[in-house]
Amino acid sequence: MSEGGGLLLLKNARIHGMPETQDILIKDGLIDCIGGMEGSGVDLAGRLITPGFVNIHTHLDKADLISYMGPSDFGKTLEENRELLKKFKSQYTVENIIERATPVLYELMANGVTALRTQADIDSTCSLKALEAMIELKKQSPINIQVCAFPQEGLMGEKQGGQMEAAIETGADLLGGLPLIEETPEEQVKHLDILFELAVKHDVGLDIQLDESNSPQDFLLPILAEKTIENRMEGKVAATHCISLSKVPAEVAAQTINLVKQAEINVNVTPGANLITRFPQPGDTHPRGYNSITLVKELIDAGVNVAVGTDNIRDIFFPYGNCSMIRETYLLAMATRMTRAKDPENLFKMASVNGAKTMGLNYGLIPGAKADLNVFYATDYLKAINSPEKIAYVIKDGRIICKDGVKTQSG
Ligand SMILES: [Zn+2]
Repeated sequence: MSEGGGLLLLKNARIHGMPETQDILIKDGLIDCIGGMEGSGVDLAGRLITPGFVNIHTHLDKADLISYMGPSDFGKTLEENRELLKKFKSQYTVENIIERATPVLYELMANGVTALRTQADIDSTCSLKALEAMIELKKQSPINIQVCAFPQEGLMGEKQGGQMEAAIETGADLLGGLPLIEETPEEQVKHLDILFELAVKHDVGLDIQLDESNSPQDFLLPILAEKTIENRMEGKVAATHCISLSKVPAEVAAQTINLVKQAEINVNVTPGANLITRFPQPGDTHPRGYNSITLVKELIDAGVNVAVGTDNIRDIFFPYGNCSMIRETYLLAMATRMTRAKDPENLFKMASVNGAKTMGLNYGLIPGAKADLNVFYATDYLKAINSPEKIAYVIKDGRIICKDGVKTQSG
């Protein structure tokens, strides 16, 4: 028995925490049972098998825009980058966005990503085109995609709020936010209020990008947590970046982490983008020291669900990216000194099951879970992080969709 007829038998798989290799029977896209089984199947020869990677935060609508940039378009300030993006957006069509994003989607799949949440810019230049393109891509995609409507230009003024309602009607799965784009602290809080009002009215989740400036002055995470509890949206809100948590005094951070846990906020961290983004601060006379990342270890140890995303992939804001979640976890381990014995497992969880939890997907290596799986050449998590990033098999809904980084006929 191997692939076909809704059945796939994987032989001799190494599962973390189990002393012997196991056979895994997959039936109709779900893990049916794990143990010793009769019959032939795909021999994994003792290689590590894990739940598929979940890229919890990315911007597929902008992915690979560097292919269209000239040398003078690189290395600009955040403000200049936003202006350049407007220029590109004025030429957006639904078709050309899909055409540019599709190869990146397949590159992510080859790197073991079986589900992702993409932001889609909603603004005065591209209107709903990016969102429409992402919704179409989701329909065509072999992997799970959630589309988050992202108000790139803020939410002040009638029109912007209306666009977010139109985004929900068009098929956005949830609403994003960017409070720091607003001009005053009061407007930043109002930005959150507008989102909560829309989320409650339409019964959708929120995924807010906040506290990304590397300044302790921009600290909205406690307010987000309070509003989540007030609006009884526990478990339905994600906070992406949350860098300021690492910049405030330790006791304030500890109180905030407790509040985040109580509000069941899912925290998303995007290591590469967090380290590279430059926010000029008032009074800056020279380039500031390098950026921080949120308090990942402290959040995990407190039981907060923390997931990892690649964020931007080869675009105006971030020219790097090879679609590898392994590389992202490596970077996170360096930046947050994740050197404890359990940390390689923590890193893998953040890159897979934790993101799946945020997306409401049933992931895990247990019977009944979705058969979205990766098989590595390595035999444990640490070796997988330290090895070349190529993944032996990527399995989606019980079908092998990529082998050695190449799409199969099922992919
Ligand atoms: Zn982002």
